[in-house]
Amino acid sequence: MENTSNIYLDKKALAYNIDFLRKEMGEDVLISSVVKGNAYGHGIETYVPLAEASGIRHFSVFSAEEAIKVKGCLKGDIPIMIMGFLSEAQLEWAIENEVEFFIFDFKRLRHAIHHAKLLGKKALFHLELETGMNRTGFDYATLKKEVFPFLKENTTSFVFKGICTHFAGAESISNYLRIEEQKKVFLKLRNAVLKAGFEPEYTHTCCSAATIRLPKMRFNMVRIGILQYGLWPSPEIKIEYLRRKKLQAFNLKRVLTWKSELMSIKDVKMGEFIGYGNNYQTSENKRIGIIPVGYANGYSRVLSNIGRVLINDIRTAVFGNVNMNSLAIDLSNAPEAKVGDEVILIGEKGEHEISVASFGELSNQLNYELLTRLPMDIPRLVECS
Ligand SMILES: *Cc1c(COP(=O)(O)O)cnc(C)c1O
Repeated sequence: MENTSNIYLDKKALAYNIDFLRKEMGEDVLISSVVKGNAYGHGIETYVPLAEASGIRHFSVFSAEEAIKVKGCLKGDIPIMIMGFLSEAQLEWAIENEVEFFIFDFKRLRHAIHHAKLLGKKALFHLELETGMNRTGFDYATLKKEVFPFLKENTTSFVFKGICTHFAGAESISNYLRIEEQKKVFLKLRNAVLKAGFEPEYTHTCCSAATIRLPKMRFNMVRIGILQYGLWPSPEIKIEYLRRKKLQAFNLKRVLTWKSELMSIKDVKMGEFIGYGNNYQTSENKRIGIIPVGYANGYSRVLSNIGRVLINDIRTAVFGNVNMNSLAIDLSNAPEAKVGDEVILIGEKGEHEISVASFGELSNQLNYELLTRLPMDIPRLVECS
């Protein structure tokens, strides 16, 4: 290995997940693949071409920067939707390049129409509606008083691509009441849009969790992030899916594997401390291995003394504090281990697995946070299981 660690994306696993999603959604629901956060750490440049090859025909990102990256690695003429940040110059870029974007305040709406006119193009927008997340979106009063009249004066400068909203925590049953309220508000606002005579092409409200929990809210488009990567938004959502389908077991396939290698081996006498400080003292003579991955490489410091890795089919423990660029593991049960041997930080080997979820549970990080913190500079490589 030339690098201290590599991330591998499993093409077959991704094809399996996307196939599952397509069957689950049916023909009439467009799946937008959400690839913000560097494709949830999978790496936009590596992930997006695989997703396109697996049949994805719409992508969602947070920023214009990400949209530019996605555009650069697509083969086909596939729509990209920016859900978050755009500077005014980037807004102009989006209109010029027919990139779709959310509009959630009147200033962006005015700028969009203004630049569409100057460019002689149409702004392709999705109107975001405020339903109770209280992040971004238009409320009823603003729609009626400002948005509708303004749009009616400018009908030739835009394509009404969609209306949308986002649920505030659909992955947890504890948010049930809040989500129910959001549903009601969304249906009311949607009615107002339709009554005012507009015909948005798409209606979309569902992220992964809502897609499973609220199938009626799928309308004709869903925005799927975490599920396509083979992970569940929360254990609850997986249970809900199994129950509804009356299944005993079902799993998506984890797309990502993270591997490093053994950099050095050392025998340490009983009673010695390992690494910085005195977080770990050996209770007997120990053999330890050093892995060239630390918190600067996305391996959380919280996993000090807690993390688990796989080496030669054996599951073993992280000893002591995770350093900036290295960590120590126990080799007592792997006497054959030698420098250069593969070490799996996330992934499976033989009977053992270090899942993203287990990794996350140990460090109290959500799947989402853990993945998106994997640094950009770890190489992403494609493999086929
Ligand atoms: C991130 C995001 C999604 C995707 O969420 P998942 O839980 O990963 O499916 C959908 N919609 C919006 C607005 C988002 O920001």
